[in-house]
Amino acid sequence: MTAALIVAAGTGSRAGGDLPKQFQSLAGKPMLAHSAAAFAAHPGISEVVVAIAPGQEALARAAIGDVRWVIGGATRRESVANGLAVVGSARVLVHDAARPFVPDAVIGRVLAALDGAPGATPVLAVADTLARGDAVLGDTVGRNELWRVQTPQGFDTAMLRRAHAAWDPREEATDDAQMVRRLGEAVAMVQGDPMLDKVTHPEDFAGAEARLRSEWRSATGFDVHRLETGEELWLGGVLVPHDKGLSGHSDADVVLHALTDALLGTIAAGDIGTHFPPSDPQWKGAASHHFLTHAAALIAARGGEVSFVDLTLICEEPKIGPHRAAMQARIAALLGLAAERVSIKATTTERLGFTGRGEGIACQASATVRLPGGMR
Ligand code: MG
Repeated sequence: MTAALIVAAGTGSRAGGDLPKQFQSLAGKPMLAHSAAAFAAHPGISEVVVAIAPGQEALARAAIGDVRWVIGGATRRESVANGLAVVGSARVLVHDAARPFVPDAVIGRVLAALDGAPGATPVLAVADTLARGDAVLGDTVGRNELWRVQTPQGFDTAMLRRAHAAWDPREEATDDAQMVRRLGEAVAMVQGDPMLDKVTHPEDFAGAEARLRSEWRSATGFDVHRLETGEELWLGGVLVPHDKGLSGHSDADVVLHALTDALLGTIAAGDIGTHFPPSDPQWKGAASHHFLTHAAALIAARGGEVSFVDLTLICEEPKIGPHRAAMQARIAALLGLAAERVSIKATTTERLGFTGRGEGIACQASATVRLPGGMR
């Protein structure tokens, strides 16, 4: 059992604005909400506690809802101590709310390191040359043994409580790793992540949002429907004149179905049948653009954007070329995209197989989506 203890008790605002920075909006929600959600969603974390400053109760409730909070102290060290008093887990990860974007992989590395050491912290190598100096540049400082120390820092909870109890309160600690080392205990180093950089100054917010919005995902979809006489032929949201049409529970638009599955795939949200069960009579004869816009709305709800979609129809007939531009325009309109971001291709199977015999039409789709939360 491992707890996450997030220190969010700052009252000042070097970041500017009226609110303490941990409650300022970042990528669409209060900064604190990002790390609280990351820990709450991680399978290795069973308990989340947040230390806030007195008077921040309403802000905390708005930012993190039901997440448990305690009132912190005048310093970071005292805030951690107040949080430790209520932590019920044998291990604890202490984290600064000013590092909003916590990669799952870093949490995993810290937890793994705790199997072999009483403490563990993510670190990053120092890339820049370091030097002492006053008004003019002094001596270079060797950087081979220097590290940028990040959070979340993981500890045996009882050991961290001992470190806090033993600490001389006349001295301020920069972090918990320092306090634990003072006890003579080892703190293992694991690979950190630039996503964990602190957000401190006003200009940091834009940079953090840009980093956050850097995850690209692609996924594929595939669908087949049977060609039958007496059916309408809907392809890519366009009614195509033909002597046969596709049969299915809905309007059987094989193109929009494959594309819907590709979009759902980018957010691992199941498939079209998950959201629109064929057993549900309300989808009988339904226009398939509802399925497509539903998938797009799920992506938008996560702050994502569809960047590009690519479709390959597989059939002997009808000829797709004359309808390509109409399908492209229709799909672009449904997704709110420029037409150049919608690619429509077609191929035959040289009269081989069910598509070659004209028994059905198949469609392959791929979708590329940009999602926030690049670390998760
Ligand atoms: Mg289908």
